[in-house]
Amino acid sequence: MRIGHGFDAHRLEAGQRLVLGGVNIPCDKGLVAHSDGDVLIHALCDALLGAAGLGDIGRHFPPGDASYRGIDSRILLRRVVTMLNEQSLTISNIDITVVAEAPKLATHIPAIKAILAEDLGVEPDRINVKATTTEGMGYTGRGEGIAAHAVTLLDEY
Ligand code: MG
Repeated sequence: MRIGHGFDAHRLEAGQRLVLGGVNIPCDKGLVAHSDGDVLIHALCDALLGAAGLGDIGRHFPPGDASYRGIDSRILLRRVVTMLNEQSLTISNIDITVVAEAPKLATHIPAIKAILAEDLGVEPDRINVKATTTEGMGYTGRGEGIAAHAVTLLDEY
């Protein structure tokens, strides 16, 4: 078994799309990034790469590379899954926490899980997604950004 952890945070700004876990979420602000800013998927990619001993998302998909400008982070996630397959690694389970003061994410979590399950090639019951606030404290609490933490367990076969 191999365990991995990932963390990411992005700034929120008006006039941007908010995409979390591949789901477009209605919000008056969205995440600023070189890619689509999907902080949830970025944290997940880093957890998977970390568990596999393959470095991090920035090493495989450099933000300075123009080919990744505005890219759908699901494409990056699927490429990470291919890397895991090449290393004979399968996903045992994933646990993700999104830290956001707003919007409320509970109603979007089933759709996020379905998308992640599809891209990862695992059953949705192996994926847990939850959301929390920081009670108004810090950059997430002030609505300046959204952060995400991910933990995963991989099995070698
Ligand atoms: Mg990121």
